[in-house]
Amino acid sequence: MNLNLKFASNAPLPPTVKFFPHLDRVVTVEHCYYYLSFLERFWTFMDTMTLYEQRHYLARAEVRYEKWLHNFNEGIRVPPLDVAFLWHIHALSPLRYYEDLVLRLRCNAVFDEIFPLDNLHHTANDPHMNDLNIWNQVFGEDEPYFLSPENMYDGTYSRPCYACQQEIVLPWSAYFEYRYGVNTTRFPHDGCGPAEGINFLDVARMKLESDLTNKCPGPIVAGTLLKPNGTIRKKPNKMVTKIKPLQIILPQEEMDYAYERQIQEQLKFFGKKYEYDANELLYAIRTSYQSNPTPFSIDLIHAVSRQRRFYDTIISMDWSSESDILIASIRHYHNFMATLKHQSNLHAVPTVEIDIAFHVHMLCGPQYRKFTLKHLHQVINHDDNIPENYIKEYTARWKRGIVAPPYIYMVKETKKESRHVY
Ligand SMILES: [Zn+2]
Repeated sequence: MNLNLKFASNAPLPPTVKFFPHLDRVVTVEHCYYYLSFLERFWTFMDTMTLYEQRHYLARAEVRYEKWLHNFNEGIRVPPLDVAFLWHIHALSPLRYYEDLVLRLRCNAVFDEIFPLDNLHHTANDPHMNDLNIWNQVFGEDEPYFLSPENMYDGTYSRPCYACQQEIVLPWSAYFEYRYGVNTTRFPHDGCGPAEGINFLDVARMKLESDLTNKCPGPIVAGTLLKPNGTIRKKPNKMVTKIKPLQIILPQEEMDYAYERQIQEQLKFFGKKYEYDANELLYAIRTSYQSNPTPFSIDLIHAVSRQRRFYDTIISMDWSSESDILIASIRHYHNFMATLKHQSNLHAVPTVEIDIAFHVHMLCGPQYRKFTLKHLHQVINHDDNIPENYIKEYTARWKRGIVAPPYIYMVKETKKESRHVY
């Protein structure tokens, strides 16, 4: 046990069986505590690396998360810390997470799985032998269970091309540069694409092409498969079937403008009835495809850096009465949800304290969806990307007694803006 960790021991126990509040059975003091332990362990490990190493570590973790997703049925129940962290980051965007895992990548079993907060805590220094053995059998020596700066450059990046399925194989150091857009030089790719080779802007372009032309069950363009309330769209986006995948985009970085021209043309022809779908599709291309060569609809690595701020605030708090803070977290989260229920035109921004319980709830994807749909008639999206000056300004206004209680920040927002987080 690392004695310098604040959340290394067991979760606090209630004085009596019913003393601790809980919400929806899964948001408990115990889970909140193990969630903090998970964050602390991850960021403490990150802090042993240089910033440069951290970026590489995250890029490889993202690839490992995808590999683990597609091999979930092999039975590795507690993934390595890096994979678990990326999984958690994904779950914190509940609409995109559901769309990706259930509707696009067909990883329903992962979506249905309860995030193993307890197990991650208890096996922190001693993972299950069974998990280690399966991991080694499935991924081989080139993909170690424990990822570290010492081994993260070993082996090679390998992933099938979205368009032709031929493996794209690169040294990790090259992949890292492509992933962060530092390098856009072309490399040979025989399977498809131009004779001069491809780069990762092409890979992102081909990801959209593949989703647009998906045969069964039809196009799976991220950001167009759900209604604003988070339920599945019964009538697919009409504009998706009207546009043709672009083979050449110049300049390569401007995928959205290239598609915008085509969408505008179609809109002129089909008229007003297509306007909503046209806007939705263009927004989806901009936020889920442009500069994002990963199979996911959000840039998970960008989302990781936002969570760092959350962690820094948590770890700087006084945790001497930890169970009191966690009890308040659950109670205020409950109030937060209740406020949203009665004032659905408001966009509510949780405080850090509420956010702990909020995150824990979102880590149980099916429960979170069911709960919010049942009680609030929509899957509440989660936004950690509120400008800091806005929160400061709000807090100041609250202190002058102008705005709502301390545990909640609110701002009126138009429906359209509140639809997506990223
Ligand atoms: Zn290809």
